Amino acid sequence: MRPLNTTRRRLLLGGLASLAAAGLAPAMAAGSGKATRSAGETTIPRRQRVKALVIGSGFGGAIAAYRLGQKGIDTLVLERGRRWDVPAGKPGPFATSRNPDGRALWLSEVDLLVNDGPKDPLNRYVGLVERYNEDGIIVWASSGVGGGSLVYNTVLLQPSKRNFGLAFPAAVSYDEMDREYYPRVVEMMDASPIPDDILMSSPYLGARVFQELANRAGLRNERINTASNWHVVRKELRGQLQASATAGEIWYGANSGYKNSLDRNYLKYAQESGRVKVQELSNVVDIRENGNRYLVDYNRIDERGNVISSHTVDCDYLFLGAGSMGTTSLLVRAKARGTLPRLNAEVGRHWGNNGDTFGSFRTGKPAGSSTGGPAHIVGLDYETNPHGPQTVIAFPQPNNPEDALIFLGMSIPQDSGYWDYDAKEGRARLHWPTNTPGQKNTEQGMEYTLARLASAVTPEADAKRARESIKVGAGATAHPCGGAVMGKACDFYGRVQGYKGLYVVDGALIPLATAAANPALTIGAFAERCMEEILKTELRG
Ligand SMILES: Cc1cc2nc3c(=O)[nH]c(=O)nc-3n(C[C@H](O)[C@H](O)[C@H](O)COP(=O)(O)OP(=O)(O)OC[C@H]3O[C@@H](n4cnc5c(N)ncnc54)[C@H](O)[C@@H]3O)c2cc1C
Repeated sequence: MRPLNTTRRRLLLGGLASLAAAGLAPAMAAGSGKATRSAGETTIPRRQRVKALVIGSGFGGAIAAYRLGQKGIDTLVLERGRRWDVPAGKPGPFATSRNPDGRALWLSEVDLLVNDGPKDPLNRYVGLVERYNEDGIIVWASSGVGGGSLVYNTVLLQPSKRNFGLAFPAAVSYDEMDREYYPRVVEMMDASPIPDDILMSSPYLGARVFQELANRAGLRNERINTASNWHVVRKELRGQLQASATAGEIWYGANSGYKNSLDRNYLKYAQESGRVKVQELSNVVDIRENGNRYLVDYNRIDERGNVISSHTVDCDYLFLGAGSMGTTSLLVRAKARGTLPRLNAEVGRHWGNNGDTFGSFRTGKPAGSSTGGPAHIVGLDYETNPHGPQTVIAFPQPNNPEDALIFLGMSIPQDSGYWDYDAKEGRARLHWPTNTPGQKNTEQGMEYTLARLASAVTPEADAKRARESIKVGAGATAHPCGGAVMGKACDFYGRVQGYKGLYVVDGALIPLATAAANPALTIGAFAERCMEEILKTELRG
């Protein structure tokens, strides 16, 4: 393996074969991840019995664990990734997107976002983001204690009532979500909008340019609730902490500690209950029914992903929180191999890309594309976009041209993907339709909103160039939704049809999309809603 490599490649938007259809990507340098940890405890029993088991420690898993602990129920959380603590006043533990190494990627030797150019192998490591190369789509999902909260833009965006009604079954009340569960997650994650002093500071030029264009274009825009600690960001601005948010470092972790990630709230409180144990580097491979109980097989792995030992947990209640990709894979595998034979035919269906697109245009003058994160302003093109509700968020992307604005788009998709099981490879596989009218509509919706923004560039000659530079692609998503959705494979509280004591509490429960919004808040709010009902009706402490 090569040592850290600081090679830079200047990337021109849209000139990339990479980012598949997305047309954006950071220049990435490959390097080596350090394997400085061991898989930890050696006293973990080969076979163990627990009351409640949670698989995965992202939004769904962390919330389930916290509520179980609060109720006094002994709970084990199995997480495939490692723990990432940010030590106060010391260099952070993460790689950076300007200089990535194995710590950025889940057991991959290939650059995550860049397909073209030199392929310097990275050290295989239990890093933060997994790239799934599926049939018709690339999906990025997280690993680590805290799941997606370690890598996300910290955006907690609540969908509008109208959009929620378009995306979710009528059996779920938006008013109840709005009153009870959305605010609960926002409060627990300590999320708030970017304050004036930070928005006005120099690294946040990109946000101000976006806001100004949106205002000129008459596009409704708002500061988003962001689960970032703004005091930490102020310290970064004063040079007291490593530049992380202010340098646009998001995807590969926050070295300054600016993210209010789940390991600092829900999971921390879960462990403080004394009832919950979170076990890292524990990769679940199979779920089997065992009378009224469940047997869960998992491998302890080291930091290179090598299997150290195999274990089985026997549990009364099993909560699936491995994310849309992880949970759906486990269920599709269990159904195909007959270890959960009563799963219904809806398992592995109704998977969606959240209506995601990536887009960009060039303003012709500095727009701060590479600094000042995480994303914090949202443009809401709901009523006037002829292609359906469209949300756009500008976000920083290191090493792109300084006059570019880079956007994530979210909408309500018309297409639906499905999963099957590849027995030869021994893995579940996702199939996503491409070149469909629905997909075209998704891209056109994004193009429409970006054209509104680009038209607000001044003078008119620059606006024309900005419109001509618009690039939109939909070949990848970081927002997988569905696979075991409410009202189909599960009931409206995550209870898996045909099985008592088996629950889906993560993104797999969401049908296709979270209503033109980033998914974490809605996934978290549904997890809260499911847990409240399940704990009221089924589990005793
Ligand atoms: C780079 C990036 C940026 C993002 N930014 C935002 C944002 O700003 N706002 C937003 O709303 N959303 C964002 N998202 C999406 C958000 O992170 C996810 O929607 C959210 O985390 C999903 O929650 P979840 O509970 O379904 O699963 P996750 O949070 O993904 O958690 C699943 C956990 O299960 C673990 N796991 C998986 N399989 C197994 C197994 N077999 N055994 C044991 N453990 C397993 C994983 O390692 C992971 O820790 C982003 C995603 C990415 C990748």
